[in-house]
Amino acid sequence: MARVFDVLKYYLYYKYRPREKSREAVRRRQERRLRRHLAYVAGHSPVYRGLKRLEDYPKTDKAFMTEQFDRLNTAGIGREEAERFAVQAERDREFSPKLRGVTVGLSSGTSGQRGIFLVSEKEAARWAGYVLAKFLPGSILGRHSIAFFMRADSNLYQAVNTGRIQMCFFDLSKDMRVHMEKLQALAPEILVGQPSVLLVLAGEKKAGRLTLSPRMVISIAEVLEKEDEARLREAFCLPVIHQVYQCTEGFLASTCCFGTLHINEDIVRIEREYLDEKRFVPVVTDFERKLQPVIRYRLNDILVEKPGGCLCGSPHLALEKIEGREDDVFCFPGLTGGERSVFPDFIRRCFLFAEGEEPVWKAGPGDYRIVQRADGTLAVYADLTKAGERRVQEELSRLSAESSFVLPPVDFLPYGRESGRKLKRVERIRQKEM
Ligand SMILES: [Zn+2]
Repeated sequence: MARVFDVLKYYLYYKYRPREKSREAVRRRQERRLRRHLAYVAGHSPVYRGLKRLEDYPKTDKAFMTEQFDRLNTAGIGREEAERFAVQAERDREFSPKLRGVTVGLSSGTSGQRGIFLVSEKEAARWAGYVLAKFLPGSILGRHSIAFFMRADSNLYQAVNTGRIQMCFFDLSKDMRVHMEKLQALAPEILVGQPSVLLVLAGEKKAGRLTLSPRMVISIAEVLEKEDEARLREAFCLPVIHQVYQCTEGFLASTCCFGTLHINEDIVRIEREYLDEKRFVPVVTDFERKLQPVIRYRLNDILVEKPGGCLCGSPHLALEKIEGREDDVFCFPGLTGGERSVFPDFIRRCFLFAEGEEPVWKAGPGDYRIVQRADGTLAVYADLTKAGERRVQEELSRLSAESSFVLPPVDFLPYGRESGRKLKRVERIRQKEM
């Protein structure tokens, strides 16, 4: 019961604490919290012993977190022990046990390297309080049902089960048909899942096989493309599809009532490494993670600032979108030598612009994936008509002329993707990767 009380306490704190009105005020609060947090980290995490200012800390990445796992966490938990524990839980699909009071989870790395995260009881309650304060429609004292589709359950999420709030977990490794019946019976108020799953449910609803009408749909874990967002809005008759941008390294951004993603600058500090005038790679410092500190962690993602901010008036940095992984920037030989990098968004637009008077897709609004292979050539996985293939080829040629690169051969193949893997519409495969 202590935990329910903690969740409620944090919910009330995040929901009703006075909001900063300006960027300057946000900055000042961050400085204060950061000073306190770094004092704790420098005193408890062996790898950071004695460091003072944020600038003194090295930038970190996944390799650092893995290699320094034992010396980084402040609970004295060894990597091998944690990994054994987490793998066992996943194998049994039994996620309630804890390792000396600590939640241990595996993160689904897209790059193949598995990350391990540690979260304390208090951190889990704080996280749950924060998420509920951000998203729960109406009062926390009302009854709410949440359907949560995800790859693995974790007692991190069970922190949200507080009696009146019923969080129902749907394990993605199980049969979707069984889920449909359960989902229909639950008739959830809030539906949470990755875009590829939400799109399947939207399809079922449109086909009349599922009749749920949630008040809120929240997209997690994968990049939500604009066209997919539009399909979800239409299927669920909602003005906004909410998004949570979260990874092992922290709860980084969430949507406001206008559907704009804002960086959660009340719990994380983001340094921006600019790639052009509005695209940047975030370097994250989370000032709430004490057990496994995340300090100056360089994420592999490309974020795009929203020019002019957001109408909601929040001083927290507004994003136009999450464009994708830095690894997925395509690379082509330049027309005048050298190499040209092309951001995923420009590639995506080729499919959008290809649509015209002639039908481009064999059926419905189509799914596609485009992959740059290790040899540099492109593979388009989509069920396109002949005219559609020609149009996509033309758009790619136009892009290559505009951006001065040599377009490699393009193969057109039927749409398909491995189930269970994250959906990536634009992906670059590098050497040595499977
Ligand atoms: Zn906003």
